[in-house]
Amino acid sequence: MNQHTSTSKPLPAADELSQPFWDAAKQHQLVAQRCQECGYFNHPPRPACDACQSQQLQFEPVSGQGTIYSFTVMHQPNIAGFEDQIPYVNIFIELDEQPLLFMVSNLPGSERDRVRIGGRVEAYFEDVDAEVTLPQFRLV
Ligand SMILES: [Zn+2]
Repeated sequence: MNQHTSTSKPLPAADELSQPFWDAAKQHQLVAQRCQECGYFNHPPRPACDACQSQQLQFEPVSGQGTIYSFTVMHQPNIAGFEDQIPYVNIFIELDEQPLLFMVSNLPGSERDRVRIGGRVEAYFEDVDAEVTLPQFRLV
């Protein structure tokens, strides 16, 4: 991976469990791990279903539609790679597919006045470099 880019946000490290999630993101598709026994979505991916402990888990597309469950405005320039973006907003999103199915994203500080708990968001994809695409969410 190219380490010489000027914006050096910390990028997610894919592991064996989450690799299919990042592969799908690269194709601009949002997926979540779903239990094939009981239908429960598990995110982040895990070895066994939270609801029934089954290990029959597969990734399935999700809508990318959700609501803001909570958010924090970040003022501290203490996260490497984000110094020039403060203040920005971290949002915690509950996807429409299932209660308590959460994903996280961040919004530019310019959006902070529009951010509300319960506000609607949709997924989009930020191609960071040739290797990594980040699923992100924006206000709708
Ligand atoms: Zn299950």
